[in-house]
Amino acid sequence: MLTTGKERLERIRDARRIYLGKERVEDVTRHPAFRNAALTVARLYEAKADPANRDTFTFEEDGGRFSIYYLRCRTREDLARRTRGLKAVADMTYGLFGRSPDHVAGMITGLAMNPAVFDQVGPGYGDNLRRYYAFARANDIYPVFACIPPTGIRDKHLFPNQDRPDPTLKVVGEDDTGVFISGMKMLATGAAFADEIWIGNLTPLSEEAKKESITCAVPVATPGLSLWARQAVEGTVRHEVDYPLSYRYDESDCVVVCDRVKVPWERVFVHDNGTASRAIYIQSPANCFANHQSNVRFWAKMALIVGLSSRICKANGIEHLPPVRETLGRLCALEATIGGLVQGQIEAWERFPDGYACYNRRIMYAALNWCQEHHNEIIDTLRTLVGGNALQMPASIDVVDDPVLSRQFHDWWATPSMEASARMRLYKLVWDLIGSEFAGRHMLYEKFYAGNSIIVRNQSDREAPWTRFHGVVDGLLDGLEMPAGPGGR
Ligand SMILES: Cc1cc2nc3c(=O)[nH]c(=O)nc-3n(C[C@H](O)[C@H](O)[C@H](O)COP(=O)(O)OP(=O)(O)OC[C@H]3O[C@@H](n4cnc5c(N)ncnc54)[C@H](O)[C@@H]3O)c2cc1C
Repeated sequence: MLTTGKERLERIRDARRIYLGKERVEDVTRHPAFRNAALTVARLYEAKADPANRDTFTFEEDGGRFSIYYLRCRTREDLARRTRGLKAVADMTYGLFGRSPDHVAGMITGLAMNPAVFDQVGPGYGDNLRRYYAFARANDIYPVFACIPPTGIRDKHLFPNQDRPDPTLKVVGEDDTGVFISGMKMLATGAAFADEIWIGNLTPLSEEAKKESITCAVPVATPGLSLWARQAVEGTVRHEVDYPLSYRYDESDCVVVCDRVKVPWERVFVHDNGTASRAIYIQSPANCFANHQSNVRFWAKMALIVGLSSRICKANGIEHLPPVRETLGRLCALEATIGGLVQGQIEAWERFPDGYACYNRRIMYAALNWCQEHHNEIIDTLRTLVGGNALQMPASIDVVDDPVLSRQFHDWWATPSMEASARMRLYKLVWDLIGSEFAGRHMLYEKFYAGNSIIVRNQSDREAPWTRFHGVVDGLLDGLEMPAGPGGR
C-alpha cells in the first residue's frame, strides 16, 4: 500500500519524543525547525503515489503495488528500474537528503534477499527479518538507522575503571516476550521524520561486547526512546530566499537515546553475536543496496553543483575565460564520472545471492570511495569560482520591504546582465551549498555517512580479487628469463 504525502504527515504526528535542546518538539510537521523538511518528505510520497509516476516509483508483486526501493532484484532490468526510481527520489531533493526513505529501505531489502545470513545467529531470526521486510514493504515504511556507538568511549580498555554507567547501547534485560535495550547510538539522520529506526552495528564488534550486538527495529514513538536533535538550521531562516537549502532540505541528525526500551522478539534480528551483527550486511546485498542509493544521490547533487557553477560564472561575468571553461569542463567530467560509476554497477551486475541480482559491489565501493575523496575538492572548486560575491548580498531579502533600501538595492546590486533580486537568489543558494551551517553539515555528511575512510577503503580491500591481481604479477615474474648459470632457477 502506497502512502500519500498527507498520510505521511499524519503518521509522524505521534508520541515521538524529540528534544531540541531542552525544548520538547511536540509536532515535527508544525514546528518551525522541522516543518519544511517534513513537507519535503511528504512531497516525495505524493510524487510516488501519483498514478502518472507509477512506473518510476513503484513495482507490482504478490498482488500489491509497492515502493520501487523495496524491489528484490532478480535481473539486470530490475536493477536498472530500481536505480531509475532512486534517481527520481534524489533529483527531487537535489541529492541533499542522504537518508531519504530509499536508503535504509534498500538495506532491509538487501537483507531480505538473503535471510539465510541470520541462521548464524540462531533459529527464527531469519523469519523475523522476512516478516519485517514484508511489513515494511506493505506499509510503505520510512526506516532510518542508528548503527554506530557513541564516540569517546569505544576503546573500553583505555578506560578500565570508569565509575559511571557505560552509555553504549546494549541489551540490559530480556524475558519471554523480548529484550530491553538501554544506551545511546550515534546519529540517526532523518529519524525525526521516519516511522522506524533500525538499530545495529556497521563496525566490527568483539565477542566480549556481544550485548551491544543487538540488531532490531523499533518505531520512533516507542516509549523510552528519545531523539536528541542537533541544531536544526531550518528554524533559523527568516525567508526561503535567504537560505533556500536550509529552509527545505535539513533532514536533521539525532542521537538515539534508549532507556529500557522494550523490543519484542519478532523485531530482534541479531542478539548476543558480535560477528553476525556486522556480517549480515556484507553477506547479503544490504550494504550494497543502501550505498548504491548514496552513489545515485551524489550523482543528483553533482547536477546541482555543476549547473550552479556555470550560473555563478555567468553572473560573475567570467564564463567566457578559457581557464574558467577548463574548470567547468572538469566539473562536467566529474559529474559524468559518478554517472558512469552508477551505470557501471548495473552493466557489471552480479548474480548474488542465488536467484537474485545485485549491483556490482566493487564498483559500488569504488564509487563510495570516489565520492568521499572528491566532495571537499568539488565544493572548494565551486567556492573558488564564487569568490567573495556571496558575502556582498544583504543579510535578508527583507530589504525589499523597506522602500528606500529596496530602491537602492535594486539600483546598485543589479549588474548589466542581472536584476538585483535574481542575483541575490543565486548567491544565497550558492552560499547555502558552500558556506552556511547547512553546507558545513553536508561537508561532514559526505565525509562520514558510510563510515570513516578506513572503513570505506576496507570494503574495497575485502572485495578485491587479490588472487587475480597476484596472478598477473606472478605470471609476469614467472615469464622472466633467468641466467643459465648454476645459480639460475
Ligand atoms: C552528518 C552525519 C550524519 C550521520 N548519519 C548517520 C546515520 O544516519 N546512521 C548512522 O548509523 N550513523 C550516522 N552517522 C555516523 C557515521 O556513521 C560516523 O560518523 C562514521 O561511522 C564515522 O565515525 P565517527 O564519526 O565516530 O568517526 P571516527 O570513526 O572516530 O573517525 C574520525 C577520525 O578518526 C581517525 N581514526 C578513526 N579510527 C582510526 C583508526 N583505526 N586508525 C587511524 N585513524 C583513525 C580518522 O582520522 C577518522 O577520520 C552520521 C555522521 C554524520 C557526520
